[in-house]
Amino acid sequence: MFRLFSSGVDDLVLVSSPTNGEITNQIGARFDRELIYTNIGEVLIAVNPYKQLPITGPEFIKMYQNSPGGNEAPPHIFALAERAYRRMVDENESQCVIISGESGAGKTVSAKLILQYVTAVSPNNSYGNSMGGGGSNNVPQYDGGSDDYGAPSGRGRALPMPGGRGMPPPARGGGVPNRGGVASRGAPPPPMGGGRGRGPPPPVSNVRAGAPPPPMSGGQAPPARGPAPPPSRGGPAARGRGGAPPPRAAPPQSRGGRNVDVEHIKKVILDSNPLMEAIGNAKTVRNDNSSRFGKYLEIQFDDNNAPVGGQISTFLLEKTRVTFQQKHERNFHIFYQMLAGLDQSTKSEWGLTQATDFYYLAQSKCTSIADVDDAADYIEVKNAMTTIAITSEEQTEIFRILAAILHVGNIRFQGEAPATVIDETPLQWAASLLGCDPQFLGQSLNHRQIQSGSVRHTQYAVPQNPDQSASLRDALAKTLYERIFDFIVTRINSAMQYHGSAKVIGVLDIYGFEVFERNSFEQFCINYVNERLQQIFIDLTVRGEQREYHEEGMKWKDISFFDNKIVVDLIDGNKPPGVMRVLDDVCKTVHAVDSATADTKFMEKLIHAIQSHPHLLISNTGSSANEFTIKHYAGDVTYSVEEFCFKNNDNLYASIVCCLQSSTYPFIASLFPENMSDNKTAPTTASYKIRQSANYLVQRLSACTPHYIRCIKPNDSKSPLSFTSSRVEHQVKYLGLLENIKVKRSGYAYRQLKDVFLNRFGRIFDVAPRNCQEFVEQITRAGKDISAEEFEEGKTKIFVKTPETIFLMEDLLMQ
Ligand code: ATP
Ligand code: MG
Repeated sequence: MFRLFSSGVDDLVLVSSPTNGEITNQIGARFDRELIYTNIGEVLIAVNPYKQLPITGPEFIKMYQNSPGGNEAPPHIFALAERAYRRMVDENESQCVIISGESGAGKTVSAKLILQYVTAVSPNNSYGNSMGGGGSNNVPQYDGGSDDYGAPSGRGRALPMPGGRGMPPPARGGGVPNRGGVASRGAPPPPMGGGRGRGPPPPVSNVRAGAPPPPMSGGQAPPARGPAPPPSRGGPAARGRGGAPPPRAAPPQSRGGRNVDVEHIKKVILDSNPLMEAIGNAKTVRNDNSSRFGKYLEIQFDDNNAPVGGQISTFLLEKTRVTFQQKHERNFHIFYQMLAGLDQSTKSEWGLTQATDFYYLAQSKCTSIADVDDAADYIEVKNAMTTIAITSEEQTEIFRILAAILHVGNIRFQGEAPATVIDETPLQWAASLLGCDPQFLGQSLNHRQIQSGSVRHTQYAVPQNPDQSASLRDALAKTLYERIFDFIVTRINSAMQYHGSAKVIGVLDIYGFEVFERNSFEQFCINYVNERLQQIFIDLTVRGEQREYHEEGMKWKDISFFDNKIVVDLIDGNKPPGVMRVLDDVCKTVHAVDSATADTKFMEKLIHAIQSHPHLLISNTGSSANEFTIKHYAGDVTYSVEEFCFKNNDNLYASIVCCLQSSTYPFIASLFPENMSDNKTAPTTASYKIRQSANYLVQRLSACTPHYIRCIKPNDSKSPLSFTSSRVEHQVKYLGLLENIKVKRSGYAYRQLKDVFLNRFGRIFDVAPRNCQEFVEQITRAGKDISAEEFEEGKTKIFVKTPETIFLMEDLLMQ
């Protein structure tokens, strides 16, 4: 029989009276036994143990490999990975794994385990020789293992999957409709959200390229501390345009057909992880390795089911982290890795000293992470760059820009508008490393180009005060960082590019729902994407299940569940206008006013446009109104509107772009390909891009058969194997696990097309039953106490209520 512990069941569908508390108890009881994985049917719950458990080695891959539906052995992430891979192989259908959970819950670790599994069990050659899991050659035989996970088959049989895709017969005709493979993907993905520069960068208002702003004034104070000024020979003037340009990026390798180096693709898939983490992850108070961007990685498989290519889409990079971090948090890992790993002579040449000398790294009073060796990680990152064919010259370009960003952060302003630079040294360093004229750079920071509202094509250089100049300075740093991030993602994609039709396994690692004490535009965007993902989850696990019962004409009473479409419409609706629409409308008209005035206008419009909505609360509707609350599926979140308009506009400042385009380093100029004199296209807003990204994501995911991992964070102190029930219960609640279980429980554990069902289980009897009614008559007489109530006949399928009945029937088949 399936596993049933004295406390804690393999599959929560077996909990007879499920409540959020009971689910939490069950998960907790298993967690106490170091069983971090639990099923709800096909949904996998994974609790972060904050401890390396010996359950992911090659012997475990071996144990789950080829297990029917990944379901014979106890709940495990490899069981889910096996199910996804096997279904792709058997049904020629694209799959995706959607991983959700709050920060620190274990999403990124789970994503890596999925990749580890899939690269291990798939063949190492792309065509012809079907080895049925080439990677398995390298996997040692399973040799026992722990008691809890140790039985590859026989014991610990888990539930068959709803939809008949599980254990017993072949999967066709299951509950979730076959969605077919994802078509050939030659076309690049649309830009992914957040104004974060995937695809064509947002156009900048009409600025005449090259026209320098007015001359800069500024003092020449000696450096207070930190690195000495750049050596004069290193200055841009000295370097000039005549210097040898860095080699151009190698053209992307074209792949397709038979000659794909599968082992190389596997290496790229695995090696790109530390690189992506270096540029996109950071230490936060919640997680020492927190992903500050969303990532959807699709691995493409050929007819031999070998990985032959892949494509990463990223979104919502938290670029504000480049310039600001809370106390005890860090900037992106790559900065510390560079300082720890770069050779001393290059450091001196670039004016790099230690992290505490650079404001962008020093402000949070946290520059190191326990048990993390930044120098070692630097080497790993460099190797990964080499693997994805970033040349050593390009690597130097990348790190030099990162060094420049650190110097940019040390530029300080004072005085009246136009503000002057307090200390020239960091400006000199930044200009030198960026290959820009220091005067031009300074003027790009203390003047802002704006276009006249009445006379088109007329530009004004508006002098900026110290605060405004500081914000332009930060915009420069963020823009540079974002472009490097995009460059690296593009190069990873080039390294994995595959021309040809393929089915895919996609892995989505996106940061979960966020509620902080103070929530801003970033949380608003993240929570919106999470609402969209929740919709897919509901659609496929709850609504889809119920829809099938209706379609089959079953006796079925719908389970009530919260359909969050109403919240999604509140945020992204057009008619009536949702919050994003109101924000975009305001942003179109507020270019000339300061950020605070724009936010006030947004609040006014919001109050006016969405007067009463069950999921929107605005407690203060007076002139000082500055926050609104959205009742999300996962709870209420109050958003402070400060900087909503500024962040939504996500301006790329013309003067900054012009300055960087003038760089003597062709690499830097090439990162800014936009035509600054083109003002035909209206600037797109961050929220517009997020809607686009979310649509793209939903469209990609909907083309695949989904697999869900719901990650749970057991405590807030990152303590090994410690379980705080109240924290877990909260997550259980908003992850919607209870509704999920209820539908599964009151539904049918198993279903199958009538003829497939009768073909298989008809073999129990000497005289095969011809229809469902005959089958039920015979099985109830078989002396196993199976009740007729256990079966129901739909229009095309036969449904079985409980898993126990399926297991009994299986036993009868074996006799
Ligand atoms: P974020 O949203 O902040 O990116 P996350 O959900 O991706 O968070 P992870 O980075 O995957 O969280 O996990 C946080 C940390 O928890 C890991 O660095 C690791 O130390 C630990 N951890 C997570 N999952 C496991 C696991 N299965 N086994 C051991 N440790 C784990
Ligand atoms: Mg993560």
